[in-house]
Amino acid sequence: MSASITVRCDRTGQYGSCPAQLFTSTTDEAEAYAHASRLGWAVNGTPDYCPRHAGTTRPTPAVVPLHLREH
Ligand SMILES: [Zn+2]
Repeated sequence: MSASITVRCDRTGQYGSCPAQLFTSTTDEAEAYAHASRLGWAVNGTPDYCPRHAGTTRPTPAVVPLHLREH
């Protein structure tokens, strides 16, 4: 039986969800999150973010909505 917890990044963007996942070897959620936290994951609340998305203070890249191009 294997029910180890996988922590997933909840960041979504223009091209869909972030594919980052952290596989843990524990079935205890608190332990899994503690492990993730040590690796730089932001798991203190919801949503959870991978290290790449956790500590960024950069603004998201400018995206030009498609509808604006029609004017
Ligand atoms: Zn991510």
